[in-house]
Amino acid sequence: MIKLPLALLAPALAAPLLAQAPAAAPPPPIVVAPWIHALRDDALANDRYAFDITEGLTTEVGQRMAGTAAEARARAWSVAKLKAMGFGNVRVETFDMPVWVRGPESADILAPFAQKLVVAALGNSASTGPAGVTGQIVAFDSVDALRAAPDAAVRGKIVFIDHRMMPTMDGSSYGQFGAPRRAGPTLASQKGELATVVRSIGTDYHRNPHTGVMGFTDGARPIPAGALTLPDSEQLVRILKRGKPVTMRLRLESTTIASAQSGNVIAEVPGRDSNLPPVLAACHLDSWDQATGALDDAAGCGIVTAAAKRIMDAGRPLRTIRVVWFGAEEVGLFGGLDYLAKHGKEPHHAAAESDFGADRIWKVDSKLGEARRDEARMIGAALAPLGIVTGAFDEAGGSDIGPLLDSGVPGVGLGQDGTRYFDVHHTPDDTLVKVDSAQMRQNVAALTAMLGVLSGGIAPKSRVRR
Ligand SMILES: [Zn+2]
Repeated sequence: MIKLPLALLAPALAAPLLAQAPAAAPPPPIVVAPWIHALRDDALANDRYAFDITEGLTTEVGQRMAGTAAEARARAWSVAKLKAMGFGNVRVETFDMPVWVRGPESADILAPFAQKLVVAALGNSASTGPAGVTGQIVAFDSVDALRAAPDAAVRGKIVFIDHRMMPTMDGSSYGQFGAPRRAGPTLASQKGELATVVRSIGTDYHRNPHTGVMGFTDGARPIPAGALTLPDSEQLVRILKRGKPVTMRLRLESTTIASAQSGNVIAEVPGRDSNLPPVLAACHLDSWDQATGALDDAAGCGIVTAAAKRIMDAGRPLRTIRVVWFGAEEVGLFGGLDYLAKHGKEPHHAAAESDFGADRIWKVDSKLGEARRDEARMIGAALAPLGIVTGAFDEAGGSDIGPLLDSGVPGVGLGQDGTRYFDVHHTPDDTLVKVDSAQMRQNVAALTAMLGVLSGGIAPKSRVRR
C-alpha cells in the first residue's frame, strides 16, 4: 500500500485548516514488522490447516450437539488433532449441563387447506408428545404486536410470529429480528397460548427451518415452540389472508436430560515468558443437531487454530497463545461461563474469537484500553493489506468470550462478512460445501497477523529469517 501525506494529496484543503487551529501532534507512525507481513501473506496464499480441521471434524464426527455422546466424540477427536499438530498443554475441562434432545416433529394445516409445512423445534421447546397439539392459528407481525394483544385473543391458540429479517454484512439484523425466537415463546406462554411457531430467523428461501436456543424466563411455563421455513411462513400468511379459520396440528417431540457432561478443549503454544498473561483465541466445538456445523463453528476452530499453528511453526512467541474450543455454546454459553468461573480471575492479554462462518474479515475493532492504543493501531496496520478496515478502539465482541470481555478482559473483534451467513445458520444446510476456502485463508491470514502482534514477537527457529 502506498501512503501519501494528506498535504500532498490536498494542499488547498489542508492549509486553511492548519491556519485556523494548532494541529494535534500526529500519532507516531506504525511500522509492521516484516516477519508479520511474511506470515500473513503465506497464510493467505497457502493455508491448509483451517480447511483440514473443518473437513476432518465435520466428516469424522459430524453433528456435535452439546452434552451428547457426539460432542464427547468431538472432544476426543479434537484432543488427538491438537496433539498431532504439536500444541502443548492439550486438555479438556469438563462441566455438567442440562441437555435437550430433539424428537420427531411435524406441522400440518388441517383446515381450510390441508397440507404439511416444514418445522423444527427450537431448543428447550416443551414436548407436545406423540399426539401433538391442535389449535387455531393467530398471527402477529412482531413480538410487540403479540404483546399488545389481549390475552383472551390468543389463549389456547397456536400463535405465529412473523418478521422481516434481511441480510446485513455485520449481522446486526439477527439481533433485532431474532426477537420472535428469543422472546416470543416466553411471552406466548405468559398469555396462555397452546404453542408458538415463528418465521425462522434466517434470510434464505430454501425449505430449511432455522433452529436456535430460547429459554422460558420469568417463571413462564415451557410450551411447544418451533420455527417454520421462510417459504412455509409465507404460505401460512397467504392461507390466513383467505379469511377462514386456520387449524394446525403441531407435533414437536423432545426429551430432556437433567445433567450431562460437556467440556472445553484447550491447547497452547507456550510462550517464552510463562509469567505473561496469555492471548486467547476461541471458537466453539459444539453444533446444532441437524447438520455438521461446518460454518457454525467448525470453520472458526479451523481458523483460530491454523493461525496459532502458523505462529508456532515460525518460532516461539513471547506470550502464550491459548486456543479454546468451547463446548456447549449453542445451547446457552455453558462453555464460556465455565471458562470464566475457572479462569476469569487470571489476567489475559487479550481475547478474540471466530464464530461467524468463514467469509472474509472486513473490519477489526478492538478494546485493549487507552494505554495500548499503539498495539491496537499495529493490529489495524497489520490487517490493512488484506482490505480490512480499522474500526473502533473501544469495542470488542464475541459469544463464547462475551463473559470474559464483560469481566474486563481486553478483546479484539474481527468482523466477518455475514451477508450469506444467515442463509444456512442453524439449518440442515450448514455443511462443508458452504466453506469458501479462499475466504477462509483470508481469515487465517488476519488471525495470524493479529496473533503475531498480540503475542509480542517470535523468537525465530534457527532456520527462520525474521
Ligand atoms: Zn456459533
